[in-house]
Amino acid sequence: MASSPSPPFHVAIVGCGITGLVLAIGLQARGVSFTLYERASGISEFGAGIGLSPNAEVAMELLDPALHAAFKEAITPNGLDYFQWIDGFATNEQIFQLYLGKDGFQGGRRSEILAAWAKLLNQEHAQFNKELVAVTDNANGPVLLKFADGTNATADVVIGADGVWSRTRSLLYGDAYRASYSHHYCFRTVVPMDLSIEALGKDRSFTRFMYNGPGAHAITYPVAKGTMLNVLVVIGDSKPWHPDITGHAVAGVESSAGDNMATTATLEQRNVPSHDNGVANRQTTGRGNRKDAEAAFVSWLPAAKAIIGLFPERPDRWAIFDMLENPVPSYSKGRVALAGDAAHASGPHLGAGAAFGIEDALALATILEAVDTNHAAGKDVHVTAALDIYNKVRYDRTQWLIKASREAVDLFQWKDPERGQNWPGFGDAITALFHKIWKYDLEGMKKEMLGLYEASTV
Ligand SMILES: Cc1cc2nc3c(=O)[nH]c(=O)nc-3n(C[C@H](O)[C@H](O)[C@H](O)COP(=O)(O)OP(=O)(O)OC[C@H]3O[C@@H](n4cnc5c(N)ncnc54)[C@H](O)[C@@H]3O)c2cc1C
Repeated sequence: MASSPSPPFHVAIVGCGITGLVLAIGLQARGVSFTLYERASGISEFGAGIGLSPNAEVAMELLDPALHAAFKEAITPNGLDYFQWIDGFATNEQIFQLYLGKDGFQGGRRSEILAAWAKLLNQEHAQFNKELVAVTDNANGPVLLKFADGTNATADVVIGADGVWSRTRSLLYGDAYRASYSHHYCFRTVVPMDLSIEALGKDRSFTRFMYNGPGAHAITYPVAKGTMLNVLVVIGDSKPWHPDITGHAVAGVESSAGDNMATTATLEQRNVPSHDNGVANRQTTGRGNRKDAEAAFVSWLPAAKAIIGLFPERPDRWAIFDMLENPVPSYSKGRVALAGDAAHASGPHLGAGAAFGIEDALALATILEAVDTNHAAGKDVHVTAALDIYNKVRYDRTQWLIKASREAVDLFQWKDPERGQNWPGFGDAITALFHKIWKYDLEGMKKEMLGLYEASTV
């Protein structure tokens, strides 16, 4: 006798940043039905750089080998397979270096990586100009999504991948569970390689470096196939966050100072009005002043000061917000789950926020593919169990990253008197932090999830 057809099963993904997009591609590769809803008018990211660590590469490969291949096409190789730390304050000498693995932790422009991934997505599955404003998880019916344009949609599962100022999160748990200022801000830019070579020299322009000293640090690495240098400067700040809203202030959307016109257009395109005015503190960018960076680096050596000279006079200033103070109790509630920054926004100091979003996507694609929609208990019970397992497996590791990122910035900015300028201790601490991120057993994670799911369905 022919078996009866499976009941329809549909996933709604809210937000098409890195997490939402790679989840979509992972579901597409598994034949799981989904729709991606994004409030902006298209798939876009500004042009500053991002590095994706070895664990992110494994997760991409397991989500869909095409995703990994597209990433490798879009990135810029490091000159050396080592991350190098320089004492920018007292000696201009190398403090420590850490092996990245063969071709590991490579970076590229976000816009180029996202564009390469976007080509893999069947665009029929994506809807733009769809800002989520409400989610209702009704018993005995599908989950209902409402959008700011007055339209509705339904799904069997909703994944909120809508970033640090997640509307899905506040709908699930209330506005008290929101990101708070970590008392660090940053300036970012991307500069032509000839300017970098002139200011920093060839040796310091074509591979990944971090410059350390008291109260600040700087990271540089090549992007755009070696034609540009990505620069990120992070500065400690004891004051509350007050953005200068005369600049391009956009909630939850990143921008890059000194970037090209195309990037500015993209930024403005994404600066869509939000209906979420009830959430405070959404203004995370503002117009900054290079003088602030010059003041933070005033006693540093010329080699490090030359990095600050690469910024325009009025760069955009980014506040670093994270979920340390107000963590959500769980990444799932009924048939709705949170992923990426929506679940566990962390500081950028270990270069792993997006990587952990990609790991989340792998976890979700694995468990959603496994959901048994034919089971006697009903698909809703199974979806809830599956999301509960997702939370169990992801929660501790991702919450650890938030704390570890704060620990790392203290280390990089010599705030920890024990390890600050004690280079062997500095090296040991860095190695332990990065290896915990990079060497995670993602096959083991998948196995654990599927084992838990099987046990829950007996
Ligand atoms: C300075 C800096 C440097 C970093 N460097 C690195 C690095 O080198 N490596 C790394 O791994 N990570 C890095 N990170 C972290 C990384 O950028 C983030 O973790 C990652 O981009 C988060 O992706 P996401 O998709 O979860 O969220 P987002 O990128 O914020 O995407 C959320 C999406 O949801 C959409 N959206 C929001 N609200 C709604 C709504 N109501 N309805 C519909 N759509 C909505 C938004 O428009 C957006 O497209 C860095 C972060 C910063 C700030």
